[in-house]
Amino acid sequence: MTKFDFASWPPALTREQLEALTLAATTYSLSHGLLYLPPAPTQPPAPTSAIHAPISLFPAPVPRRLFTEAVALQSVYNVLYARIAMDTEFLDSVMGAEVGVGRADEFVGTLWKGWKAIREEGVVQPLQLGLFRSDYLLHTESEGGSLSLKQVEFNTISSSFGTLSERAAAMHRHLHASTEYYGLSSHLTADNFPSNNTTAGLAEGLAQAHQHYGASGSRILFVIQPNERNVFDQRWLEYELLKTHDIHIIRQTFAQLATSATLSSPDRKLLVNGHEISTVYFRAGYVPTDYPDPSYYQTRFLLEKSRAINCPSIPLQLAGGKKVQEALTKPGVLERFLSDSKWGTQYNDEQLKRVRGTWMDMWALDEDDTDALSSVSAPSPPSSSSSPSPASTSSTEPAGVRRALAQHASLVLKPQREGGGNNVYKSSIPPFLATLPPAEREAWIAMALIVPPKSVSSYLVRAGAGGTEGAVRSEVISELGIFGWAVFGGGEVKGEKEVGWLVRTKGTESDEGGVAAGFSVLDSIVLV
Ligand code: ADP
Ligand code: MG
Ligand code: MG
Repeated sequence: MTKFDFASWPPALTREQLEALTLAATTYSLSHGLLYLPPAPTQPPAPTSAIHAPISLFPAPVPRRLFTEAVALQSVYNVLYARIAMDTEFLDSVMGAEVGVGRADEFVGTLWKGWKAIREEGVVQPLQLGLFRSDYLLHTESEGGSLSLKQVEFNTISSSFGTLSERAAAMHRHLHASTEYYGLSSHLTADNFPSNNTTAGLAEGLAQAHQHYGASGSRILFVIQPNERNVFDQRWLEYELLKTHDIHIIRQTFAQLATSATLSSPDRKLLVNGHEISTVYFRAGYVPTDYPDPSYYQTRFLLEKSRAINCPSIPLQLAGGKKVQEALTKPGVLERFLSDSKWGTQYNDEQLKRVRGTWMDMWALDEDDTDALSSVSAPSPPSSSSSPSPASTSSTEPAGVRRALAQHASLVLKPQREGGGNNVYKSSIPPFLATLPPAEREAWIAMALIVPPKSVSSYLVRAGAGGTEGAVRSEVISELGIFGWAVFGGGEVKGEKEVGWLVRTKGTESDEGGVAAGFSVLDSIVLV
């Protein structure tokens, strides 16, 4: 098999071909619910118009071997993160507010403290649900060297674009069926477009949790952000739940829940406007701005305190922290979750090696040389982070900071945040570190930059306020996400599944890549 030439992707189009494909792509998207609400200061409760989601005209090339591996690993990742969420001792040591990141990061600390108080009262939830997305970039080990797939992050809350990515894949399949892409590439054959059934798969995860809860007539609560524009991605799940599983959902913001949600006494059933809730699905609550004042946290804790299955629970949200991703790379930590017989199914060394094969080098900014060698299974005592230290000179800085300065050109720094736009890259790192208060170092991790294939292009189509702005050919990077779910509790994973994928493609001029944040477009895969 000859090596795929990424730099020659996609084939060049004539102006007529470009216009015809753009028309076919946008009209297909508008016809099939590949949609967004238009930007507006506020959305009316009953919208009267929509725009197509940002899309690409060609699917992104992904080597078949790497796609297959990412899909195969999802099951291990589902189990791994379910077990992390069930390991209170580990989460306390890594994310807690007494010895972990929760000291340095107020958002994490507030969530952890709320969870701890609920634990002390006694958790009544029988189970937890995770709808996950593991994100990857193609990585070039060395100039002209072979490609591998490296994990960017693992999302445990509000993993979005599942249902829209199914539609983006269907849109590319339609372009192929209707035009055969003008015979421009031998790679563009139906066999090379993998199937993508995220809607059924994600809804199945929610339905499983609902059935485990087992109260007839109960509903699933979608906790949403006010003025959400990505509503269709959520609505497709709602329609699937009703049509296939006969489950009704209720959509509410935290502000609405402040008055609509109550707990029954003494059994702590969650009631919203009188309806019993089986499962709480969060499409909000992952950023500090979702909690504009302390009463919003009280609402979150009320949901956590209830019997309803939370997707995610606070521990599962904490498990998705970048700090956990980094902690997993320390000696013995992956073994703690995958090879300890206390969890049931044990994974062999070969499987652990494959999981590790998806990781880039990561470390903590506050780590000194001895930390780098120790395992988090032995948490260190509280440090004196509360004592103010003066702006330190390089000789007194921890090894983690010195290493980040030395390697900044090939590094990204990440805080414990979701939703894009929070990271610090390359040349911005030294000035950032110069002003970062030492007590806040603990909230950040350093991660080696993944190096995707160079000079790959795509035709990107975005809808502006006045309609489609036309396709733009740009140099791009494509990020692959694999979806999965897990239902778990009491130390056991009751069920889990890999359920489809997503590709987001961004112009290389931006370091970040969120579709919702406006940096990238929805894409799909051509296996090469
Ligand atoms: P968030 O939870 O905010 O989405 P991510 O870890 O996914 O945070 O980082 C946001 C974006 O930054 C990613 O989508 C990717 O484009 C870029 N990015 C993150 N980590 C790396 C990395 N190690 N190498 C290259 N790009 C990265
Ligand atoms: Mg994320
Ligand atoms: Mg991300």
